Amino acid sequence: ERAELALLRDAPAMTLDGIAIKLEANIELPDEAVAAVEAGADGIGLFRSEFLFMGRPDLPTEEEQYQAYASVVKTMGGRPVTIRTLDLGSDKTLDGDVTVATNPALGLRAIRYCLANPEIFATQLRALLRASQHGHVRILIPMISHMHEVRATRQAIESARRELDERGVPYGRDYSLGAMVEIPAIAIAIEPFVESLDFLSIGTNDLIQYTLAIDRGDTDVADLYDPMHPAVLRLIAHTINAGERAGKPVAVCGEMAGDARMTKMLLGLGLTEFSMHPQQLLDVKKEIRQAHTNALRVKVASALNRAERIDLAALP
Ligand code: PEP
Ligand code: MG
Repeated sequence: ERAELALLRDAPAMTLDGIAIKLEANIELPDEAVAAVEAGADGIGLFRSEFLFMGRPDLPTEEEQYQAYASVVKTMGGRPVTIRTLDLGSDKTLDGDVTVATNPALGLRAIRYCLANPEIFATQLRALLRASQHGHVRILIPMISHMHEVRATRQAIESARRELDERGVPYGRDYSLGAMVEIPAIAIAIEPFVESLDFLSIGTNDLIQYTLAIDRGDTDVADLYDPMHPAVLRLIAHTINAGERAGKPVAVCGEMAGDARMTKMLLGLGLTEFSMHPQQLLDVKKEIRQAHTNALRVKVASALNRAERIDLAALP
């Protein structure tokens, strides 16, 4: 069966009715980009940059970050590389960080942390801009809930560019800016985000947690952590549809995207970009190549209209 999957590596990720699907990889450390290329990934859909910051006593310098981001960009050889800005807080903390938030999942995390710590953010943004001279870098902001956070991020990027200009350090002129859709509020009120950003990436791991009020790390309530809850699927569908209308790409980069049992359902929601662990890529591609998107879309839309649970085994 592994040999069959190896043959799949170079086959196009296209449905039976001719819809081309983008399959990208999630990575946590720069070296993993090699596995992404080997699995035939179309790019990096999620580089969780916080892993460069964790498990060490100090912060990585601009140069160190630049080297890490540039190495991924070079490994991917022109394919897009989506680098998420620091997503610290809650389950991901810095060594020696003694702050105890009342509720870390709802606290000063991710983009909130970065905007509150402008030096740390600026250092990362300069490293990202510098890495973008070697290829196509897409900057992805985690945990966005307000439009003013998008505006503040753009301002931070602009001042990072000015500083590099002043220092005479080369950087790429083009970058794209996107946001994670992982807080229900932005999926519900998605229009201004779709309009002002270049792309969106749905983080289902957190979207499920915040929609269902289930701590994603709490084993006592793990049975209630339900990716198939119709409310979760409606938020995903709403986001995909808004992207489709605006002509902006929308990906799913949470665990759902790499679960081959859910591939047809996600195609039925209209998803055309999946990002997952490199090891999951070929199993998902296999599902895609056996799917009829149009039939799936009809079936999934009618279930969602009635907020019915979708029976994965009954999908065409
Ligand atoms: C998510 O929330 O779905 C996601 C992809 O990010 P993380 O798992 O790193 O929070
Ligand atoms: Mg997340």
